[in-house]
Amino acid sequence: EFHRAARIRGLEISEIVQISERAAARKALGHDVVALSTGEPDFPTPEAVIAAAHKAATDGKTRYTPTLGTAELRAAIAADAKARPDQVIVSCGAKQVIANAMLATLEAGDEVVMPAPFWTSYADIVRMAGGSPVIVSCAMADGFKLTPAALEAALTPRTRWLMLNAPSNPSGAIYSPAELSALEAVLLRHPQVWVLSDEIYEHLNFIPFHRLADVAPDLRGRLLTVNGVSKAWSMTGWRIGWGIGPVDLIRAMGAVQGQVTSGACSIAQAAATAALTGGTEVLDVRRDAMRARRDLVVSALDAMPGIECAAPDGAFYVFPRITGAMQAQGHATDAAFCDWLLAEHDLALVPGRAFGLPGHLRLSFAYAESELQTGLDRLARALNGDT
Ligand code: PLP
Repeated sequence: EFHRAARIRGLEISEIVQISERAAARKALGHDVVALSTGEPDFPTPEAVIAAAHKAATDGKTRYTPTLGTAELRAAIAADAKARPDQVIVSCGAKQVIANAMLATLEAGDEVVMPAPFWTSYADIVRMAGGSPVIVSCAMADGFKLTPAALEAALTPRTRWLMLNAPSNPSGAIYSPAELSALEAVLLRHPQVWVLSDEIYEHLNFIPFHRLADVAPDLRGRLLTVNGVSKAWSMTGWRIGWGIGPVDLIRAMGAVQGQVTSGACSIAQAAATAALTGGTEVLDVRRDAMRARRDLVVSALDAMPGIECAAPDGAFYVFPRITGAMQAQGHATDAAFCDWLLAEHDLALVPGRAFGLPGHLRLSFAYAESELQTGLDRLARALNGDT
């Protein structure tokens, strides 16, 4: 009989991935499925970035890379973050940065505070590394944001990390400088707590976005900033993310990565260097496109019976409350509601429980407007009882 290691007992493929796979399987059976379930921009990778990758390949940049990243990319990241290159690690996606950090720091039973809704993988990565996720529900009325009082109440002597993510997947929330400073004030009273600030949706903001390292410099000695090219530059498949933090932490993360993947792909790092140093014009155009999609989706959803949808301030998701619609359609859980939408209406969305906050769903608007419109029409028809 196959034995699963205790450290991954109960660990399954992410619910978001499972839903996308089920949608793809239905499509393969000939169903006309609309999947608004994936956290991936539909835009192509910018041409200049692809050209840089091509050049790197023909120039012979096809060898192993240093474990912590190429000198060029680390220098570009450091310049962008006003940090030093030795404070930077490059990994195979932001996800590996987070996994490295947890594997490098958590002892069994260490607590990691995560405001819900949170990106599904946070809790799984923490458990895989032997830690205990401490989930703090954040109210829709608070913009799904962690309040200083809720943070204070969640901290214990065993708290090792606070995981913050803004712009947020799935809520789109962005903290103002004042809100960040208020959280910093709490953290300054708890020096045992480190902070992971996941800023992978930077540049996909509809209100001003502030990096935690800039607003709260007093936290820098225990702050890991996570970022990358996946979302803003439409480079999910290139697998380049990075962490910026204290050198001791970065070295420990490098020790983990050195035994798992080694340095990230040489060609992808050259491409990421070109992305990061290539100016912001492409980001501005795409942000404007995302804003138009957001407005389309929010106004349509908010007009539907039993659905309350706030306009997100960033990223490319909406996270409406659907408890009214669930009740009207006779579904006890958001998961049952989403199963029904896929099975009966060929629409794939992700239930809020995957993000630690049931009673909601996540719809990604990183799709063409025509596809969004088709999905919204299907949802409206489903709620009207049409087939
Ligand atoms: N962090 C958040 C909040 C995300 O939503 C995602 C991707 O969905 C990641 C990190 C992972 O990014 P990457 O594809 O660079 O590993």
